[in-house]
Amino acid sequence: MAPSPLFYQAGPALPEVSHAKGVYLWDDTGKQYLDGCSGAIACNLGHGRDDIRDAMLAQLDRVAFTYRTQFESAPAVALAETLVTLTHRQLEKVFFVSSGSEAVESALKLARQYFVASGEPQRQRFVSLRPSYHGSTLGALGVTGYEPLEAPFADITTASLKVPGPDFYRHGDADDAWHVTRVLEETRATIEAAGPETIIAFVLEPVGGASTGARLLDRRYLEGIRALCDEFGCLLILDEVLTGVGRTGAWFAYQHYGVTPDLLATAKGLGAGYYPVGAVLSRADIVETVMASGGFQHGHTYAGNPLACATGLAVIDAMQREHVLDNVAARGHELKEGLQALKARFPWVGDVRGLGLLWGVELVADATTKAPFPAEQNRFARITALAREEGLLIYPRRTLNGVAGDHFLVTPPLTINAADTAELLVRLERAMLRFDREVT
Ligand code: PLP
Repeated sequence: MAPSPLFYQAGPALPEVSHAKGVYLWDDTGKQYLDGCSGAIACNLGHGRDDIRDAMLAQLDRVAFTYRTQFESAPAVALAETLVTLTHRQLEKVFFVSSGSEAVESALKLARQYFVASGEPQRQRFVSLRPSYHGSTLGALGVTGYEPLEAPFADITTASLKVPGPDFYRHGDADDAWHVTRVLEETRATIEAAGPETIIAFVLEPVGGASTGARLLDRRYLEGIRALCDEFGCLLILDEVLTGVGRTGAWFAYQHYGVTPDLLATAKGLGAGYYPVGAVLSRADIVETVMASGGFQHGHTYAGNPLACATGLAVIDAMQREHVLDNVAARGHELKEGLQALKARFPWVGDVRGLGLLWGVELVADATTKAPFPAEQNRFARITALAREEGLLIYPRRTLNGVAGDHFLVTPPLTINAADTAELLVRLERAMLRFDREVT
């Protein structure tokens, strides 16, 4: 067979997917996989849903594509209205895009243009966390804190200030409140040294995804960052590309914390794997200022096309009809209990953390010292391969803590039922037993 012309990743050839239904996928050899990570934390409603297909077909029959500056479309207006309502009108303006990177990129540019329009053009830098992941386009990469991704492009991305966020696992010996205070003080000192008047915005994931293995930010931390933004006159951009649209059990993760952003980027779960659609949600006055200055100098061809927005509407409609957020709470609880039971059995499980149906499992060589496995052992890849052999997809990543470390995410579709949650845990346990024999 000729080698594939695709070059997505180094490593062994992948099986070819045949079909999918619910939380299961099959490859062309007939092997079945439980989708324990919703693809890339995107297929939030599972696969092969008739209601989403029907809504998409109905829209295709009406009109698939119109350009956003030539026509308004009913699905775009309705989806924008729906998103605004889900924020309880705290964010009242919506700009559609097609991916998470585009959503972050658009939020960065909107924030910058706001300050140019407001007579503060000296605001030229963002503050973000190390580790973090905000996307692969150059602007989003500029605020991403993960050295291997940054390195080849460091000279051509406008570097943001990267500060450490709270890490309750690795600073668990300290009092949590004291840890948050110390991290916030460090952040303030970095900004004061750089000049607060040069900062456009903070960019944060309210719950880390692949970047940190579902590391949670703390309410006190987010309140502290919000207060710093207000004091220094800069904006707070939350990257909810992964956490938005129900993943953590709230429509948006910030709603758990009671800290409202000025701008919010979302994508993945909005199209639920059926069609690419993302959005930037903004405070109304920010958009009004930019529009009064001549309009937002930004846009993408496929942004807000009717098919994308009809898909997003069908996704949210299904979630509301089926009370999916209640399911996230119930299944999230079962998953948490199951993962914690596995942690108690295997000493190399250092930490289990998460919220809703976003769970991270961090692997360590030594649970007492929390020392990671040597990087060259690629343990994150090994456990993922074993899970795959056992018919379970999980989302692996070398922990982006700037040193080393391994973790994987367990993020099944938000519609997973109790029986499939139990089956997920059984398959994971089988993979972990095999992993245990290799590392102990
Ligand atoms: N931001 C976060 C928090 C993400 O998890 C991702 C993707 O994993 C992105 C941005 C980039 O999204 P996309 O891959 O759709 O460009």
